[in-house]
Amino acid sequence: MKACGTVYLVGAGPGDPSLITMRGMQLLKRADVVIYDRLAPVALLSMCSTDAIKIDVGKTSDSGGDGQSAINSMLVEHAKRGMNVVRLKGGDPGVFGRAAEERAACLENGVPCVIVPGVSSCIAAPASIGLSVTQRGISRSFMVLTARGSDGSGAEDLDFSKLSGVETLIVMMGRKGLATICSGLIDAGSDPNLPVACVERATTRNQRQCSGNLETIASKAERLDLRAPMVTIIGKIASEVGDDPIAASPLWGMTVATTGSESLCTKLAEQLIASGAEPIRCPLIRIEIEDLNDALESALRKIEQYDWVAFSSSNGVRAFFKHLASLNKDCRALSTCRIASVGEQTTRQLLRHGILADVQAEVETGARLAETIVESSTAPGESVLLPRSDRALQTLPAKLGQAGMNVTQVAAYRTVALVPASYLVDQINDSADAILFASPSAVRCAADAGFRYEGKLVVCIGETTADTCQRLGIGVDAVADRASAAGMVEALARAKASSTGVAV
Ligand code: SAH
Repeated sequence: MKACGTVYLVGAGPGDPSLITMRGMQLLKRADVVIYDRLAPVALLSMCSTDAIKIDVGKTSDSGGDGQSAINSMLVEHAKRGMNVVRLKGGDPGVFGRAAEERAACLENGVPCVIVPGVSSCIAAPASIGLSVTQRGISRSFMVLTARGSDGSGAEDLDFSKLSGVETLIVMMGRKGLATICSGLIDAGSDPNLPVACVERATTRNQRQCSGNLETIASKAERLDLRAPMVTIIGKIASEVGDDPIAASPLWGMTVATTGSESLCTKLAEQLIASGAEPIRCPLIRIEIEDLNDALESALRKIEQYDWVAFSSSNGVRAFFKHLASLNKDCRALSTCRIASVGEQTTRQLLRHGILADVQAEVETGARLAETIVESSTAPGESVLLPRSDRALQTLPAKLGQAGMNVTQVAAYRTVALVPASYLVDQINDSADAILFASPSAVRCAADAGFRYEGKLVVCIGETTADTCQRLGIGVDAVADRASAAGMVEALARAKASSTGVAV
């Protein structure tokens, strides 16, 4: 029988996906099952492995007692089948998050359960408008209160005589009861001018807020039609409401589709989250390093006879050295060859295998790599081995051939096109503000899948990918300076700034 898995009650933070903890993110990435709530940021789900089972229990958890016991059983059942379960909750799992009940259910059934704290909205909502819940000389304590009791009681049932002396009072689940709470506090002796602020959907792109005092706030919130989820902050600390500081992130509020291999999509999604954007992870290709084929084997067995070995991607480098090792050879087999690299990432990958590239193309394209090799060749008709993808473009071998070089092209790995689920394509077409492409194959897969581009920014990893876009009639807004996930995210920030007229 499989060993029992663990249930992790993970705090997802208040809404901005970058506010999850590093531990929470790691657990999410390797979870077998993710059971999530209505308030957990959807963008975080795109960090899970594509094989993970994702279960939305938003409605179940709203429906009261029975719903909760259904969730408890779900956690136990999946863990008992040997799966690692992440129970993803908005904010912190222990702040009105029913963590205690879920943990007890796990332990009663012999399932290990770990609580991973998160940033609660009771702290994040005030912070998002520049407020600290304690402040020297103003408030030495704060209280977090729910306006809804587990017994069905509401704001009218609160004991306001106990609450009116609280220095900072943070009210959750209190949208409906706002007017009752304010008048209850005034009746119990609080100053009607006591500052109050309300924040709806704090730290998300839809954040809205208003401020006033005990007498004015309920009608202000009504006029603005503020809705749940909303946090209300009552006390002197709420007197100076500032701007939302998180909105300063360069990609704040953008939804961005990431394409490419699964691992690249994950890297991109992490960088996007850190820059304030919400990723939609959509892998369109898979890199497969298969068993050695005849052409590659015969090239590798006489590798020292080539004047050049040219690498046009870091995947090519990884595949090449894997195959070389399968023949019991290592980098020393290349000691007589000159090595050409298409760009920085490829050069870095070569270094990992103990090879310092002799030349690197200045611009990361097949055409420039060909020119670089031709310029550096010392005799006419030198031989070049190109270990590449089975779907690689033909510009590089064609240009080398035109220059009189003797080219051998071998498939070192396969690029397999993936067909994305139609709901993912719809989600991208309907809600993405930008699409990132890291290879010509991904651009072609996106075209086959029916991606639409109106009103979206398109960013490419390099000129070759951008050429493919242009050939298919897709306008490109920016090309990365560095062919890496970080380079693409920087290029997107530039494209966003120029599309909105903001200087960076
Ligand atoms: N565990 C959560 C709270 C769950 S109770 C946490 O620690 O944040 C649900 C209540 O939390 C909502 O009714 C609302 O009062 C508050 N809330 C959660 N996320 C919020 C957000 N982004 N902005 C404002 N209020 C939020």
